[in-house]
Amino acid sequence: MILKAIPALPMEPNVTSALLPTYARIDLAFEKGEGAWLEASGGKRFLDFGGGIAVASLGYNHPALVKALVEQGQKIWHTSNLFRIPEGEKLAQRLVDNSFADFVFFTNSGAEAMECAIKMARKYQYACGKPERFHIITFEGAFHGRTLSTIAAGGNKKYLEGFGPAVQGFDQVPINDLDAVKAAIGPQTAAILIEPIQGEGGIRVFEPAFLRALRELCDEHGLLLMFDEVQTGVGRTGRLFAYELSGVAPDIMSIAKGIGGGFPLGACLATAEAAKGMVYGTHGTTFGGNPLAMAVGNAVLDVVLSDGFLDHVARTGLLLKQRLAELRDRHPRVIAEVRGEGLMQGLRISEKVLNTDFAAALRDQGVLLIPAGDNVVRMLPPLIIGEAEVAEAVKRIEAACVATEKALDAPAKVQ
Ligand SMILES: *Cc1c(COP(=O)(O)O)cnc(C)c1O
Repeated sequence: MILKAIPALPMEPNVTSALLPTYARIDLAFEKGEGAWLEASGGKRFLDFGGGIAVASLGYNHPALVKALVEQGQKIWHTSNLFRIPEGEKLAQRLVDNSFADFVFFTNSGAEAMECAIKMARKYQYACGKPERFHIITFEGAFHGRTLSTIAAGGNKKYLEGFGPAVQGFDQVPINDLDAVKAAIGPQTAAILIEPIQGEGGIRVFEPAFLRALRELCDEHGLLLMFDEVQTGVGRTGRLFAYELSGVAPDIMSIAKGIGGGFPLGACLATAEAAKGMVYGTHGTTFGGNPLAMAVGNAVLDVVLSDGFLDHVARTGLLLKQRLAELRDRHPRVIAEVRGEGLMQGLRISEKVLNTDFAAALRDQGVLLIPAGDNVVRMLPPLIIGEAEVAEAVKRIEAACVATEKALDAPAKVQ
């Protein structure tokens, strides 16, 4: 009864458990997966174009990932960061060799990778003799995680409400508004933080020119440029990192979701200059970078960095985008806009239809997509999909469009 007395979240009434009810969980549980397909208890199969929120980057039950996990599981799981972890040194070196960065700190999640990034930016300015510079400029619609500092960075009032005074030092400005960024830069500014493509915010892609302008502002004012690539990183956009699409490199970057292929793993990457304050004793983690995570991370990179893999992602992404644009042309009453890069695509749903209702209609057709801000449903499918999965997904999305159009045409229900 007490549950009913709390009006807060739209939890499905048939889903009750001892789990803290912070999610409105869909009444579906999956027992196994293969490639881009999930099988629910009861046997119904779903084409997963949500990828567990961009995490199942190589799909389900990928033989190389299973092998890496099982083999490492039979050797050693955990040793702590008091000792060398050779697989971690190897993964860090590979990330460095394939990015702008010189150093890597491993974490268990995206928010922790962001925590490291935020601490590093502040410590950099401190090490430069400017301890007053601890403010970070962020953007409306951003999402950086759910810890106290990352909800302050994200600035979403719903996520901040009731959790006491917000962590200081985040100045939020509208997106694509360079004058607002310039106006926000002051004697306390340490860095600018942006997702090259906003994920939770609704697959909002920033123009290369905008990111270049941020880079120039940072250089001009002695600020660090920080990219949150927790969702966009590790092949998602058809490049290893989304920043490559713009030709603008950050000083600090967080990654997570895709790098573990389903194993909890994140990382904060940085140039030696940006990392210069992070000396012995300034940061730490018990679990981050443990041998199990490192084995899986290396196995993910083996595949993502293999010859032609990223080209395959880029080509499949383009095909998906073209097919979705055709769907929009055929179903303008449902789909208002298609946007994204590579295998990170969003459908902005027309204002007559709620994105969550459309996601439910998609589930009825056996395809999983994920609601995001701005009335968008997003696609973050496993990067291993090909033409067959694209065709199958588009067929099912079209069926959901038709069902939605029928519902729109049906006379309004009498209460
Ligand atoms: C998911 C996400 C995070 C937070 O990652 P967690 O692993 O949930 O802590 C941070 N930034 C972006 C862009 C994300 O998409």
